[in-house]
Amino acid sequence: MVDTKNRDVPASFEAMLKFSEAYAQRTGTFFCIDTDVTAVVIEGLAKHKDKYGAPLCPCRHYDDKVSEVANAYWNCPCVPMRERRECHCMLFLSKNNEFAGDSQLVNVDFLLNSLN
Ligand code: SF4
Repeated sequence: MVDTKNRDVPASFEAMLKFSEAYAQRTGTFFCIDTDVTAVVIEGLAKHKDKYGAPLCPCRHYDDKVSEVANAYWNCPCVPMRERRECHCMLFLSKNNEFAGDSQLVNVDFLLNSLN
């Protein structure tokens, strides 16, 4: 469970944290052993959600983010993740991935430290 009490965490960041935990548990996937990866991806999703109204995948280049959001293909969880459990951002990793940790929960302290 995410615990962001007494921390100055933007609402969209907290929302993406909670989404990420719930989705990892639902899909049987795990966060990366490198907390920096998890932190940067969640932060990117939150920024896109704030700016464009949807958590557009932060690990791709788009010529037009507004139309990509409308297409919905790369809104997290993207179609490759939903259909084939493929997350090229390494946010959601299958257990047999060499970079997968053993947690489906986010350590908020580590995560925020990664962003500082
Ligand atoms: Fe989300 Fe897909 Fe990007 Fe992974 S690759 S962070 S599931 S949009």
